[in-house]
Amino acid sequence: MCFEAACRARYAVTDVLYNCPKCGGLLEAVYEGAQPDAAELRGLWRERRLSNAPLDQSGVWRYREFFPFLDDLRHVVTLREGNTPLLDAPRAARYGGLDKLVFKHQGFNPTGSFKDNGMTCGASQAVRLGMRRVACVSTGNTSASMAAYASAAGLQPIIFIPHGNISYGKLAQALEYGAMTLQVEANFDQILALVRVLAERLGIYLLNSINPFRIEGQKSIMVEMMDQRDWRVPDWVVLPGGNLGNTSAFGKALREMAAAGLIDRLPKLAVVQAEGSAPFYDFMRQPAGDAFRAVEHPETLATAIKIGDPVSWPKALLEVTSTGGIVEKVSEQEIADAKAQIGLCGIGCEPASAATLAGIRKLTASGRMRADEDVVAVLTGNVLKDPDYIYRYHTSQLDAPGGKRLTSSFGNAPTVVPNDADKIAALLDT
Ligand SMILES: *Cc1c(COP(=O)(O)O)cnc(C)c1O
Ligand SMILES: [Zn+2]
Repeated sequence: MCFEAACRARYAVTDVLYNCPKCGGLLEAVYEGAQPDAAELRGLWRERRLSNAPLDQSGVWRYREFFPFLDDLRHVVTLREGNTPLLDAPRAARYGGLDKLVFKHQGFNPTGSFKDNGMTCGASQAVRLGMRRVACVSTGNTSASMAAYASAAGLQPIIFIPHGNISYGKLAQALEYGAMTLQVEANFDQILALVRVLAERLGIYLLNSINPFRIEGQKSIMVEMMDQRDWRVPDWVVLPGGNLGNTSAFGKALREMAAAGLIDRLPKLAVVQAEGSAPFYDFMRQPAGDAFRAVEHPETLATAIKIGDPVSWPKALLEVTSTGGIVEKVSEQEIADAKAQIGLCGIGCEPASAATLAGIRKLTASGRMRADEDVVAVLTGNVLKDPDYIYRYHTSQLDAPGGKRLTSSFGNAPTVVPNDADKIAALLDT
């Protein structure tokens, strides 16, 4: 169904569409018919944790009653995604100005980011539609995830990337998982237009972030979190914002859980953007009614949220507003230091994920979040996604976009020592 309130045109679940053909709006999955009773669902989902069936072992498909878009579960492609832990992080809590902080770490996914929660659904829909090839435009975690799920399903993954704009850790995954990788001499938006033409002409299924089935899968992050908390609703859920697909998915999941009687209130969503790439933050501060303005040259070392023109902003606007949430932005320095603090908890994450803790620190300092509130921050990606960033930070060589050297406030550089037990002992004794 079309997401735009003025349109709400309806389409069949098997129509291959990416935007509403009538108004160009975003599409969303809407389900009809009676939902099972909330207590019954909770019991069923808990019981499945003991099952050895692949679908029950998936932290996404375990909750399949919550996104019943497939009519035949044999189309599911799963790598046992989800099942990500809630981790207590007292040190990060102190740094963030909170009494207590819990991370929901999506970096524990098969390809190391929350994109797997959505991609298992997107790839399954591609199988269901009888597609042979799938494509996306991305240099990041979407490519890595799509490549893995497409190959696992026997589909051919095709990745389009802007030439000269390569993030090696993530690209390496895509290559290893067998994606055909095409570097195009154009920018992201131009390539997206090109890929849409090619998808239409050649019958390739697009798995970009507006794909409504990916959003459905990402809802499972909130459902799993609530299941793990025995359905106690936190005061806040904090997440980084790039294309805002995850914000849309979290908000939709929370609203649907409330409607189904699974939760009795909504947590507030706090979306954190990087200062050099914060169009949603700017939009929320404009006078109401002013048009959404893209950031033409987004800049941040947190490449997963380096998005100037986030496609899902209309959905994110609804979700942040309906939860009474907030949008914050943080600097490169704040992200880098927060990331080191998450590392010092023995947890670690990729740069974009650390925007959460940096944002929490700002929100508590300004009194918009209270120290005693119950906060879950979602770490979106694995620490190993961006080792180059880590090495530079700890050796005082990390430069922000534009060239300004960042301060390695919590730097931990390796020390070169001679092959001499006495000297090393003396060093260790100090
Ligand atoms: C994709 C991604 C984001 C941004 O999520 P959106 O849904 O685009 O807002 C943040 N962090 C990581 C690690 C990601 O892979
Ligand atoms: Zn429409």
